[in-house]
Amino acid sequence: MEERDIIIIGAGPAGLTAGIYTGREGLKSIIIEKKLRGGNANMAPVILNYPGYKSIPGMELLKKIGEQAEKYTEIRENEEIKKIERVDGKFRVESSKNEYLTKSIIFCSGTTYRKIGVEGEEEYVGRGISYCSICDGMLFKGRNVLVVGGGNSAAEHALHLNDIGVNVKLIHRRDELRAQKYLQDKLKEEGIPILWNTVLKEIKGKMFVDGVVLYNNKTQQEQEMDINGIFIAVGEVPNSQIAKDIGAEIDEMNYIIVDKDQQTNIPGVYAAGDITGGVNQLVVACGEGAVAAVNAYTHIKKEE
Ligand code: NAP
Repeated sequence: MEERDIIIIGAGPAGLTAGIYTGREGLKSIIIEKKLRGGNANMAPVILNYPGYKSIPGMELLKKIGEQAEKYTEIRENEEIKKIERVDGKFRVESSKNEYLTKSIIFCSGTTYRKIGVEGEEEYVGRGISYCSICDGMLFKGRNVLVVGGGNSAAEHALHLNDIGVNVKLIHRRDELRAQKYLQDKLKEEGIPILWNTVLKEIKGKMFVDGVVLYNNKTQQEQEMDINGIFIAVGEVPNSQIAKDIGAEIDEMNYIIVDKDQQTNIPGVYAAGDITGGVNQLVVACGEGAVAAVNAYTHIKKEE
């Protein structure tokens, strides 16, 4: 069994920043990431509100943060946390590859994309359905694509797709977007069509998506459309099940509840970033990661 002072779960902005801070405090920490470092921020086509950068692609910024974190802590990727148990004031952590004993844990496990739940959504992933315009957008250059959703992510996907020469339309279930004003203004400026009060009712196609049936929930009319791709951006679901299993309190939306020190109701267990809900912003995730790391350090020193 490997022993650590702190295990950080997730290598997005919060986890990587926590790694930088725990390492600089001289703690033996490790970041364990189910997939690859960067988290959902990797998918942001461009970030315009991270201090120090007027404009930077998400992937590039997260690569830089990852390289900085690596100077101070170890990052293990493609390793999934399976189970955590409390053992005499410490935590036994079982992953897909190892077993660890640790004094403290910081959950930075983020969120996964919410599914719409329309028939064929899962079946057509990679064959016309995507959740990431930065990954798959180029495949649809010159083709007809829908973006589903009314938040910041949907607006950013639509703008990115439009930028790279995709014929994009946005569909939203209400008559008002949730996206921030500067994104709404940009959508208008770029002339990206928005179909209001519209939901995706049916996906058509054989091997690949080649059409959709849309439903207008105001007029109650259906409309068929030839479409090659659908980018879905209808929000996120927190990855909080393992925290919940060890008794961490979560709210009604499944976000982990923390105090001002980023500590959960379990002493020594912290959470930071999108997993705690609130303002989902990269700079906030980094800040919360730092707060969690500093307070985990204090906790460990107090227990020694
Ligand atoms: P979001 O803000 O939760 O928006 C989700 C959108 O999808 C909403 O417009 C919602 O409609 C719609 N929706 C939800 N379920 C649906 C369904 N079943 N069918 C059709 N539409 C559905 O999600 P997000 O855009 O992914 O953003 C997540 C968080 O990250 C937010 O806090 C956001 O501010 C943040 N973020 C920030 C930036 C940035 O600062 N540039 C970029 C990306 C994300 P309703 O409006 O009707 O509820």
